[in-house]
Amino acid sequence: MKKNSGLMTPEYLQGLRDCVPAGQVRLNEDMALHTTFRLGGPADVFVCPTSADELSAVLKYLAKQPIPLLIIGRGSNLIVRDGGIRGVVVKLGEGFDHVTIEGTYITAEAGVALAALSWKAAEASLAGFEFAAGIPGSLGGALVMNAGAYGGEMCQVVDWVDCMDRGGNVRRRSNAEMEYAYRHSILHDTDEIAIGAGLNLRAGVREDIEAQIKELNARRASKQPLNWPSAGSVFKRPPGNYAGPLIESAGLKGFRIGGAMVSKLHANFIVNVGGATAADVLAVIEHVQQTVLAQHGIKMEPEVRVVGEDPAP
Ligand SMILES: Cc1cc2nc3c(=O)[nH]c(=O)nc-3n(C[C@H](O)[C@H](O)[C@H](O)COP(=O)(O)OP(=O)(O)OC[C@H]3O[C@@H](n4cnc5c(N)ncnc54)[C@H](O)[C@@H]3O)c2cc1C
Repeated sequence: MKKNSGLMTPEYLQGLRDCVPAGQVRLNEDMALHTTFRLGGPADVFVCPTSADELSAVLKYLAKQPIPLLIIGRGSNLIVRDGGIRGVVVKLGEGFDHVTIEGTYITAEAGVALAALSWKAAEASLAGFEFAAGIPGSLGGALVMNAGAYGGEMCQVVDWVDCMDRGGNVRRRSNAEMEYAYRHSILHDTDEIAIGAGLNLRAGVREDIEAQIKELNARRASKQPLNWPSAGSVFKRPPGNYAGPLIESAGLKGFRIGGAMVSKLHANFIVNVGGATAADVLAVIEHVQQTVLAQHGIKMEPEVRVVGEDPAP
């Protein structure tokens, strides 16, 4: 462990271990294992609570000391810098993924994978969530990012979101209170954690819903470089424009630094073609931003979240 974690004495870590089942607190966890980009340095402490009560206990415990905390889902919108993450990373995933379906209403915990939830909805003949089947994130990450594809967006199906503050207290926010906008929710500003949601879908025909999922996934596979590690679209859609064509027309397809390359298939993807570091990816991002600004006068804003720190010099 590096600087900052001097606070984490063996006694302190034991207190954290007492909040979750055995084996759910790990030290120096390689974040490449928890990001779809497959890169990034280690997290000092990595915790996987398996219920809201455990998460609340973890948060209450962490609140006693000024230790930085990062919540992650499936790490599909993340770049972790090569020096890793000082403090504690809490992952909501396995165990934090219960789903109940009543009529056309789904109640689900944040750790469930969007793809699994989408197929569950289809199995129950519920339409309206097909768009999410190919997005490789968790429900929690999607609720925060207002993830969307092919004309669908989380804000179209969310009824409410249970949000836990850093003190471990839960508040239910209505759809309106989430203040959804393009790839944005109020949780970007509040530090709250999305722990679960109620989703309103509509009755449909199972075969049609499954066919629609397969068609959207096939469209995605033909247009996106899914055979390489990435974090999906790197840049947000600039107002009145599209990021991919702007980057492509700037001649940047195939532009490469180290193991990070602008995809030749979809220019808004940067792919890890082998051994990429976060520094490689960030250098490519900067080059794309500078080139597109110089050629088109458009400032490209990243959609991906960059966390952690650079390695010590
Ligand atoms: C191949 C590929 C295709 C993609 N296609 C799409 C697409 O079509 N549409 C789209 O919108 N996105 C797409 N993405 C991006 C990504 O899947 C979404 O942004 C997704 O919603 C992120 O979810 P996650 O669980 O992986 O979040 P993470 O990457 O783990 O986290 C993303 C951010 O949300 C925060 N966060 C995560 N979980 C929580 C929580 N429970 N409470 C509070 N904060 C939280 C994190 O701190 C971080 O800031 C794609 C990514 C890849 C790799």
